[in-house]
Amino acid sequence: MRRVQILGVGIHNCDEAGAVQVVEAFLREEPARLHHVCTVNPEFVMEARDNSAFRQLLNRVDLATPDGVGIIAAGKLLRKPFKGRATGVALVDRLAEISARDGYSLFLLGAAPGVAGEAAQVLEGRYPGVKITGTYSGSPRHEDWPDILERLEVAQPSILLVAYGAPRQDLWIDEHRADLPASIRVAMGVGGVFDYLAGRAPLAPRLVRRVGLEWLYRLVTQPWRWRRILRVFVFGALVLRQALFGKAKR
Ligand code: UDP
Repeated sequence: MRRVQILGVGIHNCDEAGAVQVVEAFLREEPARLHHVCTVNPEFVMEARDNSAFRQLLNRVDLATPDGVGIIAAGKLLRKPFKGRATGVALVDRLAEISARDGYSLFLLGAAPGVAGEAAQVLEGRYPGVKITGTYSGSPRHEDWPDILERLEVAQPSILLVAYGAPRQDLWIDEHRADLPASIRVAMGVGGVFDYLAGRAPLAPRLVRRVGLEWLYRLVTQPWRWRRILRVFVFGALVLRQALFGKAKR
């Protein structure tokens, strides 16, 4: 699958169905190995401009999907349109569905204490038979690693979902990938997805998402994020500059 370059970050040109197919292939691959999946939104790309470790990581993960309407709009502006969107929220749902069907087990790591457990309950309600072998908040701090590893060794999940916010969650996965249990075939940073599932943060209504006004909804419901949302506008300006003047910045 080809990567589309957006301000120095190569994002795979896939839609949701395409991403699911790739992830299913990752799960079936023999011999088993850990595949790192990232759902890239404009904030990731902006972070990657200043953070070279994160930029290099995004460019080498097994699957970097286009998340966020800003990425889709950037693809159009740069005349390299994406087939569609594959968001973290949607992929978590699809992974739970695959788990219920094929038996791959999930571990939900991260978010505030109790949230991952609540998210697991919601997924169990939605996808009867989904196999969730563990949930734990933990933290990306060094001192928490032994405890997390012990829990993962007991749970032996096939799929590890990590909610420590970007870029930490993905840097954490990369830092520990060699030491994580060999059972893990797919590891993915999921940001605020557990918060959405547990009802701790409101997900924009479907119509609002469809017309691409999710950022406005977030600004109204979570105004303290304004600084992060502002970054998305800077992203838009930089993409526009590249589209108009062809300045391939980093
Ligand atoms: N989080 C955490 N530990 C940390 C930092 C973040 O558990 O050290 C969690 C936080 O509680 C939230 C998730 O990481 O559930 C990501 O939050 P955010 O909304 O910032 O993610 P986004 O979707 O914007 O990447």
